[in-house]
Amino acid sequence: MDNKKLFIKVKCSICRGRKPFSCVYCDMLGETYVQASAKAIARIINVDPHRGEIIALLEPEDTEE
Ligand SMILES: [Zn+2]
Repeated sequence: MDNKKLFIKVKCSICRGRKPFSCVYCDMLGETYVQASAKAIARIINVDPHRGEIIALLEPEDTEE
């Protein structure tokens, strides 16, 4: 594991995505980035409709032993 940080985009927890233009914590969609562990992201991917495609991208590029 290196020190790269992972983030997910979620509905703003301050305004709950209701005031995208007056809230300073989120963007114009009422969403904000929060840091997430790889495990949390794995859980999200696991239920993603595009799970198969994402898993394919995770396959090791170098397959020679
Ligand atoms: Zn907000």
